[in-house]
Amino acid sequence: MTLNHITKKYGETTALDDVSLDIEEGKITAVLGESGAGKTTLLNVIAGNLPFEGTVEGVGKVSYLFQSPKLLPNLTVEGNLKFVLEKENYKNIALMLRKVGLEGKENSYPKQLSGGERQRVAIARAFLFPHEILLMDEPFSSLDLSLKKSLLALTVELWRERKETVVFVTHDVHEAAVLAHRAVLLHRGKVTDDIPIAGEPLRDFFSRPAEENTLVHALMRE
Ligand code: ADP
Repeated sequence: MTLNHITKKYGETTALDDVSLDIEEGKITAVLGESGAGKTTLLNVIAGNLPFEGTVEGVGKVSYLFQSPKLLPNLTVEGNLKFVLEKENYKNIALMLRKVGLEGKENSYPKQLSGGERQRVAIARAFLFPHEILLMDEPFSSLDLSLKKSLLALTVELWRERKETVVFVTHDVHEAAVLAHRAVLLHRGKVTDDIPIAGEPLRDFFSRPAEENTLVHALMRE
């Protein structure tokens, strides 16, 4: 997928300022930046949710994973998954629920689940929904560290099965270092750095102090 000269303004605010970017197929690209850098706007541009200047080529069908699970409260776990699927794909639900560790919870309602379980349903839904590209908007940001680690691991496990193209927005350098093949730094609507990350996800950087890790250092420099 290619973004060519993308500019997005909200009135006086320039959220994206002439951003051009090649997103590699089959890889996880992290878009890293502080709050207000334009990360969510970039995802919305890719998803075609907004008018903008410039062009996006080769997107295909998009699936989304958000910071909050956004489940429908009046539908069961299974109902929430069926809601986004065509009937012929219902058969994939049981296996996916097993993979995300929610076997036996298909008839539970969101309010009967823990926060982590709800986010697992959202992850299941994002991967089940037929797509060519997965957009993730800080899905691990509000989680405590142990839950964050287990859901990062789960996400990588599911990603490995089909190696889909992922664009992953985060303000957390450690998450980018653990999950992504590449980190694109966004600052005030401009791409200020583009750093390849060696090796394959999942990398266990949470267990080491950031100072010891040259990659996290590189990602942190301004
Ligand atoms: P990030 O996701 O990196 O926090 P956003 O893409 O949400 O950044 O926002 C980028 C800039 O655009 C910010 O200055 C923000 O205030 C502004 N912005 C985002 N959405 C809107 C909107 N709907 N209306 C006006 N300004 C917006």
